[in-house]
Amino acid sequence: MLKSPNAKRVDSMSDIRSLLEKLSNAHGISGREGAILEIVRGEISSLVDEVRTDALGNLIAIKHGEKPSIMIEAHADEIGLMVKYVDEKGFIYFAKIGGWFDQTLLNQRVIVHGTSGPVVGVLGSKPIHFMKEEERKKLIEYRDMFIDIGCQSDKEVAELGIIEGTPITMDRSFASLNGDKVTGKAFDNRAGLVMMVEALKRTKSNCTIYVVATVQEEIGFKGAKVSAFGLNPDLAIASDVTIPGDHPGIEKKDSHMLIGKGPVVTVADASGRGLIASLPIMDWINGTAKEFGIEIQLNVAEAGATDGMVIQLTRAGIPTAVLSIATRYIHSPVEVLSLSDIDSGAELMARAMESAPKYFKI
Ligand SMILES: [Zn+2]
Repeated sequence: MLKSPNAKRVDSMSDIRSLLEKLSNAHGISGREGAILEIVRGEISSLVDEVRTDALGNLIAIKHGEKPSIMIEAHADEIGLMVKYVDEKGFIYFAKIGGWFDQTLLNQRVIVHGTSGPVVGVLGSKPIHFMKEEERKKLIEYRDMFIDIGCQSDKEVAELGIIEGTPITMDRSFASLNGDKVTGKAFDNRAGLVMMVEALKRTKSNCTIYVVATVQEEIGFKGAKVSAFGLNPDLAIASDVTIPGDHPGIEKKDSHMLIGKGPVVTVADASGRGLIASLPIMDWINGTAKEFGIEIQLNVAEAGATDGMVIQLTRAGIPTAVLSIATRYIHSPVEVLSLSDIDSGAELMARAMESAPKYFKI
């Protein structure tokens, strides 16, 4: 039986939900993204001509075609922790990998990814009952926290395959909120990955497409830097998440982005120290959104930057667009987004890959 266009849309929304759930529940801190890259490889390998991994660990897929060549990319890593030291009683001390607010870490349940399998732990600290009055008012620093996995000695910890460098992630699984809102960990940037994969599935572009799931974004945009240099594309689209201003604690003048109102197009980030989209890039993205009736939000941000910042500065300069999913509570294990934004963001990216030759005669 033939499906109506509406049924097709419902199918792709459930694809988006299940891929986001799978990627959010999987674990991969910066530098240890293997499990995430394998999921992405499984999703895209039948859609491209070749897939490989580069020296830094980036997953690179290529669909050969015509000019202009376009790199679409999203970072695969999530912020996490790393084992630094295990004391003689079996308590684990850690380094932060990426931008954590210490208050967010306190008393979380975590997964310590030992070589003998995942081990559940908790982030403990001094009991409130023993804090002095002024201590209770202060932020507890991560250096005063530790991870308790129930072991009695450092030897017991080592027997679980947990040593210096073992990655640690948040133990938090994906859940639905009201409507099409969902919550989970690492939507930064599993949401960008889903948008990129879904755009590749939908596009009928004749251009050469480089699809890159980059590594180590959260600690300095490292994967984007080397992969863009290696591929040397004519154009790039980076996909990430961005901060909306639609909940208490932030004002519209600081961010007027809303969740559920379509993909966010970066005009500038970090007050322009990150990226300022060129006028031809804005014509391409705005023109394509208008042509296909896709609602977008334009963002001039004073904080934050993405892989797009380093891609645009690669070699002699690569014109780069940044498309983002507005996501609440970024860099916490309870991030919130609207699935419809991933759907419309993927639609815009798919159509932009098709319209690129019209805007860029290369
Ligand atoms: Zn990100």
